[in-house]
Amino acid sequence: MKNIVLYGAPGAGKGTQASLLAEKYHLVHLSTGDMLRQEVAAGTSLGQRVKDIMERGDLVGDEIVLSLIDKALTANISGEPLDEWDEERRQRAIEAGEQIPERRIPSIIFDGFPRTVQQAQMLEFVFSHRNMRLDRVISIDVSREELIRRIHERAAISNRADDNEETIRHRLEEYEEKTRPVLDYYKVSGLLVSIDGGGEISETNTRLCQLMDYILRDE
Ligand code: ADP
Repeated sequence: MKNIVLYGAPGAGKGTQASLLAEKYHLVHLSTGDMLRQEVAAGTSLGQRVKDIMERGDLVGDEIVLSLIDKALTANISGEPLDEWDEERRQRAIEAGEQIPERRIPSIIFDGFPRTVQQAQMLEFVFSHRNMRLDRVISIDVSREELIRRIHERAAISNRADDNEETIRHRLEEYEEKTRPVLDYYKVSGLLVSIDGGGEISETNTRLCQLMDYILRDE
């Protein structure tokens, strides 16, 4: 069981790449952005609290995000039966003749989290209580010009409430100010590996898979 953080600026391709890796390596994919959007869509009290914050492009409070992560960890590693989605995916893998991992405790890929140094510290705390640890942080590096180009391209086709000109600028500011320090935090701990994410989706995916083969080799 390995726990991996996929790090990158808005537009770096974290979500896309995390989904591809989760499918290929049977990882649990925890995206705080998706979890928060689900809460908003379901109209829960948490969703109502974060809706405006997300629409402005601000970061949601660390405690809220941590509570979602903690809930997701409990759901995924407590030894409860695999949920329907997992079962369906396993079935597809069996039909495709792929090897199915035996272990009950899955490896996890975090996408969009931790996004502040405090979240990174809180994750350590949560992990230590669960006897877990972080194995690697993979940063997908993309130049600022390319990030801006991609987010605008996505904004033209997405129906995400936070994909508009002003919010995009603000999300990038939030990233520079609050999220970039997370990189230094992990650099110091020796967990950080960086890959070039400026090319096509498939190119970045190939690089990530080489890395994942290495990281998961002693599973
Ligand atoms: P992107 O990477 O394109 O910004 P995400 O789906 O990761 O997209 O995040 C969308 C929004 O959700 C963020 O702008 C922020 O408001 C909120 N959010 C997601 N993850 C976190 C987090 N770990 N901490 C705080 N806010 C978050």
